[in-house]
Amino acid sequence: MKYVSTRGQAPARSFSDILLAGLAEDGGLFMPETWPQFTAEDWRDMRSLPYAQLAARVMAPFMAGSIDQKTLLRLCRDAYANFDHAAIAPLVQIEDGLFVQELFHGPTLAFKDMAMQLLGRLFDHVLTERDERVTIVGATSGDTGSAAIEACKGRERLSVVILHPEGRTSDVQRRQMTTVLDPNISNLAVQGTFDDCQDLVKAMFADMPFRNEMRLSAVNSINWARIAAQIPYYVYAALSLGAPDREISFAVPTGNFGNVLAAWVARRMGLPVRHLCVGSNRNDILTRFLNTNDMTARAVVPSLSPSMDIQVSSNFERLLFEFLDRDSESCASLMTGFRQTGKMDVPESVWSSIHGLFSGLALDDEATTTEIRNVHQKSQYLADPHTIIGIAAGRKFRQPGIPMVAMATAHPAKFPDAMRAATGIFPALPPSLADLFDREERFRVVPNTLNLVEDAVRSGVLNNDR
Ligand SMILES: *Cc1c(COP(=O)(O)O)cnc(C)c1O
Repeated sequence: MKYVSTRGQAPARSFSDILLAGLAEDGGLFMPETWPQFTAEDWRDMRSLPYAQLAARVMAPFMAGSIDQKTLLRLCRDAYANFDHAAIAPLVQIEDGLFVQELFHGPTLAFKDMAMQLLGRLFDHVLTERDERVTIVGATSGDTGSAAIEACKGRERLSVVILHPEGRTSDVQRRQMTTVLDPNISNLAVQGTFDDCQDLVKAMFADMPFRNEMRLSAVNSINWARIAAQIPYYVYAALSLGAPDREISFAVPTGNFGNVLAAWVARRMGLPVRHLCVGSNRNDILTRFLNTNDMTARAVVPSLSPSMDIQVSSNFERLLFEFLDRDSESCASLMTGFRQTGKMDVPESVWSSIHGLFSGLALDDEATTTEIRNVHQKSQYLADPHTIIGIAAGRKFRQPGIPMVAMATAHPAKFPDAMRAATGIFPALPPSLADLFDREERFRVVPNTLNLVEDAVRSGVLNNDR
């Protein structure tokens, strides 16, 4: 399988190459040259497979030529071995025709583990084959950083440096990162905001001498391998509920559009998916786009669901590329126009075909709290502030006879204050994290200054090499 850029100005690459590269050099995102197709018979054959085997089967065509099937199966088994539920991504029915798929049974209690646990192992495998090392740098407002750290800790060929805004992540989220003491992990608490952290990461990637010296790499949500690793749980849910002999719809709480894009890819591969529902908080650019073709970026406002506090959903570019019939020139010009003006004029015909498949619903904080309380009262189900937005979208758009599956993206114990405010219940951390607040923390506070941050990255990585 070869990969091409959504902006058309980068050479086609192998899976291993795009795994390490992340972003294409023309600023675009990598997409598979063709879509693998599974027939009804292929889907039926997968019905009884355990999760790791099903995942390897679904992802194999995307990695063909780079990762052989036996290796992929071994990496998948290993990646999902330390989840705390035997089904890995279990389904829970909360109402007639309405299901929740729990994606938070990994080590950091958020759905990012579903992809990141595999990504860490894929990086290790490819780097060992090539006898190379890389430094992964990333900025986080919460879930991505801890998922990357958990997936990469102790891996010899990877150094990981994660920037978080000092004092602006929740205590649980910070401690999940800073209590990992392996020598290849460094945490920098930047004296600034999440946006400052992101700007520093971008600046480090733009500093070519530094980038080459440190062999910088990224595991953010534009990395295609993360999308690929999110496809299997949609397949798993659909097969459990009667596919391929029955249609199914999904509802997904959305930030960077990576998770719901994976659902769309599953559909593109032949899974009978009827409808995709997208949930947002007050940062509702996607919902405005889906409802009225208004793609205008506004200032980000903090909400109860911080992992969805995003105005520019980077993976949307991939969907746009597809709905433009892969016209990379149009895609590039829409994306650069958006960057310059903060507004994207999506052609009406393109919008209406997207609108035919996707629907959007936005909830503000008050509605989020009310919905958490209602669902808990009615179904005894505790949904965190991200998950509840997906459930609300699924409820609004479900159709009779078609099961609706809402994605549960975080464990409620990650957001105890919001849960207590809504239900009076303060959810406990699962046993694996019960002593989180007694563990030793290690991080370094750095000013919001590029050269000082680069120095800190250098010394963190040196520490690993010793
Ligand atoms: C990252 C995240 C999301 C958003 O997922 P995208 O793939 O960026 O759309 C939603 N909920 C939680 C808990 C997350 O960590």
